[in-house]
Amino acid sequence: MARIGLVAHDDKKDELVAWALRNRDALAAHELYGTGTSGGRIIEGTGLAVTRLLSGPLGGDAQLGAMIAEGRLDVLIFFQDPLTAMPHDVDIKSLTRLATLYDILFAPNHKTADAVLAAL
Ligand code: PGA
Repeated sequence: MARIGLVAHDDKKDELVAWALRNRDALAAHELYGTGTSGGRIIEGTGLAVTRLLSGPLGGDAQLGAMIAEGRLDVLIFFQDPLTAMPHDVDIKSLTRLATLYDILFAPNHKTADAVLAAL
């Protein structure tokens, strides 16, 4: 069982929920964590059990980063919006930096997420 973090920027939330719904059975075998809004949308849209952290801009990205640094997260699925400036850009950079530093499985988009899930 892997510990998976799930996050999507606002423009990508529908895509994340659709992806989670399509992969519902596979995801149900794992321990899921999500930033506040993304996690809530996944619970609503799929019925999966997701531990909700704070909303991303209010510290949720930082919480996921801390989990990575402490060895408590194996996979980060983070559907990012590359066309919109974010007020919490520093948190996003920190989260993606820690995912890289600690060498966890990290999917910044849909197709990579498919490959990561297939690899689990
Ligand atoms: P959210 O956070 O799921 O609470 O909207 C996502 C983000 O980091 O933008």
